[in-house]
Amino acid sequence: MKTIGVIGLGIIGGAWAHRYSVAGQLVGTWNRSPKPSAPAWKTSPAEVAAAADVTQIVVADPAAVELVLKAIVPALGPGKYVVQSSTIDPESSARFQAMVQATGAHYVECPFTGSKPAAEEGKTVYFMGGAPADIDAVLPLLRLVSEVQFTIGTGEQAAAIKLAMNLNLAVQMEALSESLTFARKAGISDETYFDVLAKNAGYSPLAKMKELKLRAGNYDPQFSVKHMHKDMRLASATAGCADYPLLEAVRERLKLAEARGMGDADYCALIRLLQQGD
Ligand code: NAP
Repeated sequence: MKTIGVIGLGIIGGAWAHRYSVAGQLVGTWNRSPKPSAPAWKTSPAEVAAAADVTQIVVADPAAVELVLKAIVPALGPGKYVVQSSTIDPESSARFQAMVQATGAHYVECPFTGSKPAAEEGKTVYFMGGAPADIDAVLPLLRLVSEVQFTIGTGEQAAAIKLAMNLNLAVQMEALSESLTFARKAGISDETYFDVLAKNAGYSPLAKMKELKLRAGNYDPQFSVKHMHKDMRLASATAGCADYPLLEAVRERLKLAEARGMGDADYCALIRLLQQGD
């Protein structure tokens, strides 16, 4: 099996690096804010790319990915692979693929779903885009941290389906927040609300995943407001999507939540805006 390096040791990258390390495949890690106690820590992103057959990038946004790619390009070349797992827009994906391929290296766009618990349990779900041979080459490594790997098509399509999934999730989260707050105002207990919801057509894996957090008012981040806001900004900036009514509405809610200091909270903290009267 190939070796791997992970660049970006946030909520997700830290969990994946741990699993790759336990499997004996991790040869490098790097994070912008130094984390020297991380397994296989290197002092620069280029050192990670030099050490590893496959460099997986999982940082905040397209601007961060671009900075990382510029830093690792000198260490790339034939036989090297870049797996780009940050959530980015399709246009950036095409640009990054060209940057990597210009060195002779291979590029796989590989966004994912399943937040912190899934990453820790090796149950990430990948949306893969790129040349089939490149996808096949990195799959054995990605199976160490994932349960399901969808082959979507091109890198741009893989980036697009990730934004499409998050558009649905963000709107559902706002709807769930409003529905729960509505019931609470009528004096209905959270226990009754979620018992009834579980037998309703509106029940979803998202409601199941966030029930305990909503009931406990626990906004520790699994997936943060700031990243969901970034994703809705990227979706909204995609050609022809600027006036989708629910996308615009939820983007405004996330913007407001971030402005109210909730950027690092889990995106189920959208409900707090309603509690604050907004
Ligand atoms: P996170 O905990 O906020 O971590 C973000 C990482 O990006 C950190 O390592 C951060 O470094 C790094 N970073 C930010 N700006 C940078 C820059 N300019 N240059 C280099 N590194 C930079 O985020 P996360 O939850 O792990 O998410 C990572 C990516 O996966 C995001 O694109 C997110 O949208 C996507 N995603 C997350 C989830 C989830 O459930 N968490 C699910 C699907 C997709 P510092 O430590 O120095 O800040």
